[in-house]
Amino acid sequence: MISRRSFLAKSSLALAGIGMAKHGFATGLTEIEGNFPIVISTWNHGLPANEAAWKILAEGGHSLDAVEAGVRVPEGDPDVITVGKGGIPDASGKVTLDACIMDEKGRAGSVTYLQHIVHPVSVARLVMEKTPHVMLSGKGALEFALDNGFKKEKLLTKARKESWKKWKKENAKFSNKINIENVTEDNHDTIGMLALDKDGRISGACTTSGMGYKMPGRVGDSPIIGAGLFVDGEVGGATATGSGELVMKTVGSFLVVELMRQGMSPSKACEEAVKRIARKIPDYQNHQIGYIALNTKGEYGSFCIQPGFNYALKTNDKTELVDAEAWLKKL
Ligand code: ASP
Repeated sequence: MISRRSFLAKSSLALAGIGMAKHGFATGLTEIEGNFPIVISTWNHGLPANEAAWKILAEGGHSLDAVEAGVRVPEGDPDVITVGKGGIPDASGKVTLDACIMDEKGRAGSVTYLQHIVHPVSVARLVMEKTPHVMLSGKGALEFALDNGFKKEKLLTKARKESWKKWKKENAKFSNKINIENVTEDNHDTIGMLALDKDGRISGACTTSGMGYKMPGRVGDSPIIGAGLFVDGEVGGATATGSGELVMKTVGSFLVVELMRQGMSPSKACEEAVKRIARKIPDYQNHQIGYIALNTKGEYGSFCIQPGFNYALKTNDKTELVDAEAWLKKL
């Protein structure tokens, strides 16, 4: 039986959606008014990404199209050195990309260790839509992309090649093994994006060149459904950035969504997922993890380990970069 509360929420969702689309203002009904469309995404490269997503959301488009269009912005920007073209290479000098996408129906697609393709998120979407699989990797993912009209491009920019050469010289003793001291703020900044459209449909996307100077073959959390991204159309979505190994070990994004299902707010769920890492992983203090989450009412939140993580937010009346609360500051 449908409860009065959920009936009110559902009808106001529909009304607010129509109201926003037609008039750009909320209808004045219940607690969810004005909270959608909404898009949030990790880090400050989320600001231009959100703008691209917003164009689709504002016209009443599907959140799946919005998140794909949104994260394609940093993927195509050679100055964003942690996503797509211009991303930091692995220890052997190869740029290898990971991405995934998921919609409100629980459909999901993912690519890992993909080389030469600027927009892995769009390949991930095709995996979701055109194949019976969820994930394609490496050579197979590349062949699939080329068969579907994607063009081979050079992803390693001159600037990144120079920094890689410098890094290689300084880290010669590590011979292609990851030097954890090199995992700093500026060499890992995945974009994860979550959007709720005017019809209350939630989707998410996550795309990255992964940890800078990672071991060849290393795949992080970002393309792993449940780790770097998870969406449940009845509850909400979550996505992660930071040292992917910690997120994978705790199935972070799935955990955040499940905690929201149990009634936690997005912020509280993100905090609990960070605390889980703090409890389970002894050297967690040497790492950064940032979670963002959005529920189907349009409530959002975040939490991270170290101060310094922020996320971009766009709604009908807000365009801003929000600093996430940090566990190491709260301790
Ligand atoms: N999570 C990504 C990875 O581990 C990197 C990042 O977000 O900083 O590959």
